[in-house]
Amino acid sequence: MSMPNTILELWRDIRSLVFPECCMVCGGHITPSMNGICPRCRLDIPLTNYWLTDNNPSKECFDGLVPVYRGSSFFFYKGNSLWRTLIHRFKYGGMWQIAYNLGVWYGAELKASTLYDDVDIIIPLPLHPIKSILRGYNQSRYLAEGIAKMLGATVDSSAIRRTRNNPSQARLKRGERWESVDNLFRVTKPERLRGKHILIVDDVLTTGATLYNCMLAIHTAVPDARISFATLAVTQRISHI
Ligand SMILES: [Zn+2]
Repeated sequence: MSMPNTILELWRDIRSLVFPECCMVCGGHITPSMNGICPRCRLDIPLTNYWLTDNNPSKECFDGLVPVYRGSSFFFYKGNSLWRTLIHRFKYGGMWQIAYNLGVWYGAELKASTLYDDVDIIIPLPLHPIKSILRGYNQSRYLAEGIAKMLGATVDSSAIRRTRNNPSQARLKRGERWESVDNLFRVTKPERLRGKHILIVDDVLTTGATLYNCMLAIHTAVPDARISFATLAVTQRISHI
């Protein structure tokens, strides 16, 4: 009798990934129309509202460093919050569905703001290929897919490659400016990006160093592209840099 139970449990696991019946944040009961997050958690999320304004602390982080057309973060990344746990789960726990659902929600807000209406191409910030293989997927890819669905844009995961990791950024002290790192990213298909409005998508904006290097690589290779970014979360201290 153990075999049918095992199969049943396996089926429940698979089904819960595709059609979760519990809120991905608090574990409470939800209906399929709630897209994985219950109404109470949607009210509790510490949203930034940065996507509603052209100038905001996330975007201002890059002022004078690289031309940024639009820039936004969805919510504040607070210590010990359920939302922080959620990002950790979708980053390391294989829960790609969470990333996609959050992307759909974020994308709907970006669309409603009208500032991101004319985005042509969405690029998930590339992971180093080895990291991507070890993790099994790039979580930003699913976030990008969710946003793209709502903005009616195309996801392009191959126009830019990451050539190596940037191990120094985690050790930067508060207030310290990061340096550009040559060849951290390489634009392999510049012809796809010429004259386009490009939205770079990443999970958490912390120091901004990696995103900066990515945007700089695009700006250098394709100067006539408009470059925007959308991160799912932002650490609160960024507004003090
Ligand atoms: Zn909930």
